[in-house]
Amino acid sequence: MTSETRMNTRRVFLGGMLIAGACAANRAHAAGGGSGSSGADAKGGARHAMRHARPASRPQAYRLQPEVSQTGPKVRGSTSVAHTLDTRRREIALTFDDGPDPVYTPQVLEVLRRCRVQATFCVIGSDAAAHTWLLNAIADAGHEIANHSWSHPLLTRMRSHEIHEQFARTCDVVEGAVGKAPALARAPFGEWNKRALGISASLGMSPLGWSVDTCDWEEPGAREITSTVLETVRPGSVLLAHDGGGDRSQTVAALRDFLPRLIDSGYTPVLPSDTDVFEDRTGKGWGG
Ligand SMILES: [Zn+2]
Repeated sequence: MTSETRMNTRRVFLGGMLIAGACAANRAHAAGGGSGSSGADAKGGARHAMRHARPASRPQAYRLQPEVSQTGPKVRGSTSVAHTLDTRRREIALTFDDGPDPVYTPQVLEVLRRCRVQATFCVIGSDAAAHTWLLNAIADAGHEIANHSWSHPLLTRMRSHEIHEQFARTCDVVEGAVGKAPALARAPFGEWNKRALGISASLGMSPLGWSVDTCDWEEPGAREITSTVLETVRPGSVLLAHDGGGDRSQTVAALRDFLPRLIDSGYTPVLPSDTDVFEDRTGKGWGG
């Protein structure tokens, strides 16, 4: 199989496109039969950011390029490193941000255990340090831990040494707890710039995006979250949900509902890093 045909049979993820996306628009789009989705690490992230002196202005939302896109990212000197999921196998990836949370993370883990699937937890370092037992619970169950910064700031407004500290401290906590440093990083609000990507890469991490926002951070009700997922998920989707940063009871209730239904529909949840396709398609490396 040539690389070209391989690209044609697998959907390419990541890249990035800054948009003024919102979940309401996401739902409207889905209701209109579109296949796109918008991502917003907004409210879940916003709560964290408020806790941690978030900048006053609202960060731009962020999303992946359409899942079928085979072009590189367009913005901010972003990377074209991608992970691909096998659409023929109807692979999807479940990701949970803004934890670990002593109340909701165990509940999410229980749903995943019963469904016998693995997921990726994008943890906030300060919370992880306060609950290292949850890191062990996540890792012991075979899930992946990704770096979601130390305190959920807008990295794009930070100096290099500050970004480095955000990622490095979190790496240290994760490695200290589970013996393995994160291989993936997700920027708060999905907001990357070239500097942050370079620092993340220097710490051995690849960026993790998403393509379907469950919009659980809006707390629209479990049924609405389930509907959003079922209407927007496609083979190859990376789903964004939250196990921390607020009351995630709706997320847990929705997960109990939609995850078995996705599996019954033939979807196969996988870990992005298991797809082992990280590639720099620009050929320009990470840049500075
Ligand atoms: Zn977040």
